[in-house]
Amino acid sequence: MPMIDYILFDMDNCLYPASSGLCSRMDGLISNFVAELLSLPVKEAEKMRRENVLTYGTTLKWLTDCHDFKDIHEYNRHIHPADVENYLKKETGIKEMLESLPCGKSVLTNAPPVHADRVLNYLGISGLFDEVLYLGFSGTMGKPHRETYLRAAEICGCSIADTLFLDDVPDYLIPFRDEGGEILLVDETRKHSGRSLPSITNIMELPGYIKECFNV
Ligand SMILES: [Mg+2]
Repeated sequence: MPMIDYILFDMDNCLYPASSGLCSRMDGLISNFVAELLSLPVKEAEKMRRENVLTYGTTLKWLTDCHDFKDIHEYNRHIHPADVENYLKKETGIKEMLESLPCGKSVLTNAPPVHADRVLNYLGISGLFDEVLYLGFSGTMGKPHRETYLRAAEICGCSIADTLFLDDVPDYLIPFRDEGGEILLVDETRKHSGRSLPSITNIMELPGYIKECFNV
């Protein structure tokens, strides 16, 4: 069995379930924002941003690179709901589960501090991680860029070969695996089952999965 001694966690749709609706709400707010900014119908804005997000990593990076958009603060304020309590449920036992993991752990998110801190605080798990690496930490471009993973490992003091990275986006996981790391998809509805990636449906399955698949 492969060995791991470190875990990198995505946050949105990973440390809380996709069915919370929080990410769907943000998706809608992002499309509305793009529609207004580029004077497009919402449907068209949504199609355009989805086409570009895999190249640029995030809609924000696409807007800043291709549309000369500069007001990042306004974007972050607009697309991240302040009322996370209306979406998230405090998962019983998640804090204890994370504390029990026999590995170092950090968060690697494409979210900005305003959103990530709000969610981690609400879930009661903000103090549990060595690092919370927000979008653009240390000048990186965010997931799925290779440089982001290398820099994350450097900051966390882990070796990618001995690190398990969890995310709900298959295309964020593949480049990490290409660097020699272990990956785990969090796929609540099994919508990505065709990708044949190692997966769990809920974060609470993690300890059992680790025990079964890794030396720790
Ligand atoms: Mg996510």
